[in-house]
Amino acid sequence: MTSIYPHKKAKALKPTSRRPAKELCSECGLCDTYYIHYVKEACAFLNQQIGVLEQQTHQRSRNLDHENELYFGVHQDMIAARKQQPIEGSQWTGIVSSIAIEMLNLGLVEGVVCVQNTKEDRFQPMPVIARTPEEILAARVNKPTLSPNLSVLEQIEQSGMKRLLVIGVGCQIQALRAVEKQLGLEKLYVLGTPCVDNVTRAGLQKFLETTSRSPDTVVHYEFMQDFRIHFKHKDGSIEKVPFFGLKTNQLKDVFAPSCMTCFDYVNSLADLVVGYMGAPFGWQWIIVRNDTGKQMLDLVQNQLDTQPVTSQGNRKEAVQQSIPAYDKGVTLPMWAAKLMGVVIEKIGPKGLEYGRFSIDSHFTRNYLYVKRNYPQKLATHVPEFAKRIVGQYKLPN
Ligand code: FAD
Ligand code: SF4
Repeated sequence: MTSIYPHKKAKALKPTSRRPAKELCSECGLCDTYYIHYVKEACAFLNQQIGVLEQQTHQRSRNLDHENELYFGVHQDMIAARKQQPIEGSQWTGIVSSIAIEMLNLGLVEGVVCVQNTKEDRFQPMPVIARTPEEILAARVNKPTLSPNLSVLEQIEQSGMKRLLVIGVGCQIQALRAVEKQLGLEKLYVLGTPCVDNVTRAGLQKFLETTSRSPDTVVHYEFMQDFRIHFKHKDGSIEKVPFFGLKTNQLKDVFAPSCMTCFDYVNSLADLVVGYMGAPFGWQWIIVRNDTGKQMLDLVQNQLDTQPVTSQGNRKEAVQQSIPAYDKGVTLPMWAAKLMGVVIEKIGPKGLEYGRFSIDSHFTRNYLYVKRNYPQKLATHVPEFAKRIVGQYKLPN
């Protein structure tokens, strides 16, 4: 009998083989499966198609004339939230893990694609299909490295699962949405996180070694809204390093080329997105994109404190000034970096305006990177919303 799924005849690439997107590959995992058959259309770096997939997923693409949609994508609601009882060892308060556990416990899904770490290395990603709350909990906390989450896709078909939750970042979700109809599922739920400046495992080591006082004891870190990186160490101590003191000249090549060309910071194609950067310090930021996302969030409402999102300050000047500073790889002396951090924290952008600050800074940097390194991709790879955002600033050549 011939298969109605032509992809089953395709062969996954060997781990050592060069990926179709070459150096732009974000190791999303698709090419580790027979779904590589669809790579030309599905790969986020070969065929940027956010607008088309927004239409497919949310039944409309974002309204470019509405500032919050231009920046944060299609949504019906945004709130700030935190768990009343945070999950110990989660990245923030564990809203992502809690939603996944509820969905599994209620039987809405039979499995959850998420990423644990290997026994040997706390930051080495190990994607799994979790089928118990314990397996979901074992995946809590960010593995701040490129992670081949989609490498488990073949197992879904083999297991016969029909209802699935996938947790992932933008490039993984873009490829997933492109092959969604081939997965043979009755219902796919997608819980996304924002993502930016990701690195390979080797790049992560370099970042930790250049930036932290004790790279081997870091268990968790985050670029916080107070313009500092907070490193949490094994002994529970927190080390804070101001963004403006980063050794930009040494770190310029540390971020993966895929992430330097990515404009899907806010995970446009997930049903529900859980991050932090549009919320007050200590809170998580939730974007409900569609009815499925609302259904997912409703499952944990009784475990959450919530408040409306707010916005304060004006990011534009800070963004404009950061463009040439980054471009030239300027590093401030530590005392000046700390001072700048303190000043900007007092008067700088907060809430959604901080989210826009971060998006503007990364999109302008990435736009310049694409323009200089992949000029032939500029027109099609940069989505219309990103072109509009970048167009607000004066860029060097
Ligand atoms: P937890 O309950 O701790 O669960 C974390 C979940 O993340 C787990 O289910 C795990 O499967 C998944 N995960 C871990 N590592 C990866 C990975 N490498 N790829 C895919 N999935 C993974 N939010 C912002 O607002 N701004 C940012 O700039 C930002 N950058 C991020 C960069 C990365 C690489 C990642 C993974 C997340 C980023 N986030 C960002 C999201 C944020 O840091 C938290 O992950 C989110 O708020 C969820 O926190 P939590 O406590 O609810 O998650
Ligand atoms: Fe394949 Fe994913 Fe790499 Fe694209 S990003 S080449 S789909 S593994």
